[in-house]
Amino acid sequence: MPSEKDITIKRECSLKDEIVEIKTYYYTKNGELFATGIHALSIENAKAVAEFVAKQEKLTILEEGHRCPECNVGLMEYVVENCSCHISPPCSACVEAPLECRNCGYESMYYPNEDV
Ligand SMILES: [Zn+2]
Ligand SMILES: [Zn+2]
Repeated sequence: MPSEKDITIKRECSLKDEIVEIKTYYYTKNGELFATGIHALSIENAKAVAEFVAKQEKLTILEEGHRCPECNVGLMEYVVENCSCHISPPCSACVEAPLECRNCGYESMYYPNEDV
């Protein structure tokens, strides 16, 4: 995982069926694509789209234990629900667990497990 300062973010927005799809590409400073994120928002909620983009501008790569950028109180942690690792590890609940703030519910928009 490259460190925060080595990361370049590129974004692509597309509109289809009233849904704005925002694709985010994360590049290392060598120009190597190492992760993507896809977020879909309703065009009716233009405010949310604008807020999302504004937030991404100041996006830093959050990791577990980082201070929540939203409330500045809680710590970010992976929230795993219905883990079934005892049956077949790693389970999808663990792999797809969102990085979330327990204090305000803010969810990191960066998904390190989301492969290209
Ligand atoms: Zn928070
Ligand atoms: Zn699990």
